[in-house]
Amino acid sequence: MFDALSESLESAWKKLRGQDKITSSNIKPALQEIRRSLLSADVNLQVVKTFIADVEKAAQGADVISGVRPDQQFIKIVNDELVKVMGESNVPLAQAETPPTIILMAGLQGTGKTTATAKLALHLRKQNRSALMVGTDVYRPAAIDQLKTLGEQIDVPVFEMGTEANPVEVAKQGVEKAKTDGIDTVIIDTAGRLQIDQNMMGELIAVKKAISPHEVLLVVDAMTGQEAASLTDTFHQQVGVTGAILTKLDGDTRGGAALSVRQVSGQPIKFIGVGEKVEALQPFYPERMASRILGMGDVVSLVEKAQEEIDMADAEAMQAKMLEARFDFNDFLKQMRLLKNMGSFGSIMKMIPGMNKLSGSDIEKGETQLKRTEAMINSMTKQEREEPELLAKSPGRRRRVGKGSGHQEKDVSKLVEDFRKMRSMMQQMGQGEMGMPGMGGLG
Ligand code: GDP
Repeated sequence: MFDALSESLESAWKKLRGQDKITSSNIKPALQEIRRSLLSADVNLQVVKTFIADVEKAAQGADVISGVRPDQQFIKIVNDELVKVMGESNVPLAQAETPPTIILMAGLQGTGKTTATAKLALHLRKQNRSALMVGTDVYRPAAIDQLKTLGEQIDVPVFEMGTEANPVEVAKQGVEKAKTDGIDTVIIDTAGRLQIDQNMMGELIAVKKAISPHEVLLVVDAMTGQEAASLTDTFHQQVGVTGAILTKLDGDTRGGAALSVRQVSGQPIKFIGVGEKVEALQPFYPERMASRILGMGDVVSLVEKAQEEIDMADAEAMQAKMLEARFDFNDFLKQMRLLKNMGSFGSIMKMIPGMNKLSGSDIEKGETQLKRTEAMINSMTKQEREEPELLAKSPGRRRRVGKGSGHQEKDVSKLVEDFRKMRSMMQQMGQGEMGMPGMGGLG
């Protein structure tokens, strides 16, 4: 899948090759090419427009990293925006504090809803979570039979009440059955229609109201492309969904739907269906999908590596600044952010000798302190950050910074005082005999 997209994007990158930096005019042809390929990959027009605008904005603010070509850098930007559109990280399935977790499946007929119900049940079973599938499609006897056949195949029980029953009642009793049987998760399969239909929506809303599910998963057929956006929109507006399963990503689909779902509903894709077999279900990872869409995984990691090297060079420059007491609040903020990027505060502190005995509450305090400090620095003006003396001299400035960051003047005063002490200590270290090994560790 997605071959068409990565191939047609290839020419977009070529247009940027040979340029020495990214400018709003030299990325124009590439943006146009991306727009064209996304549209031909069946991504919804509105989604494409927003996406292109976001990429443009990100590209304009980007510094080109040395050792990286602008086209490579641009690929990384597009990759990151793709990841963002699809939701940054995998969102796991909800799990109720007191079982059963109730999952309501919604979607049009033929999208793969019943298959997805069974796939999900098998997925849970593999995690040692028991499941019960409930068949509420009373309109098509074949639908209940299909669920039963799948249930036998994966050894998961099915609850149904035949074709004369009321779907809301079947769902309610199904949940009760799961409770009495001590089942971990109950998955309610519902009746679909060939297209959006008010009866179907009404029934879905009634079932939802009766059982208060923890998840309402919309099953979206990836082959529907363009339509996926409006379909998701309608279901989300009328019923309210908590996530989606994108099916049939194994076939000859152009994958545009993957970009639309999150953008339109704000809800994540949680799983993808990649085949007709019950095993063919995978958790959805936005980075992996972006990498498949672009087919440019190598370039992305190359740019990431170059970025790391730049950060190292940055750290060395910073160290020099520290030793000459040119270190200001901007540098300080940068250091704090670097620290945060490296992992949790606790895990970093534990790597420092003597700090491994910190208790959980010490670490929490440290993290809170970091956040407070960052908030205060963020409330400073550019000039104040560059010249901490301004704050040292003026209680009025300190009060303003305190107010802007939800702190008091004395908190700001303490920050400035500590900062100046630290800076003069650094300077002494630089001049004196007390050259400290491990100073590099601050970078
Ligand atoms: P429902 O009407 O929404 O319940 O849809 P079904 O579960 O009956 O599926 C409709 C058709 O799509 C069946 O032929 C399934 O085998 C097929 N199908 C479902 N999921 C996938 C998938 O991820 N990939 C492929 N290739 N086919 C699928």
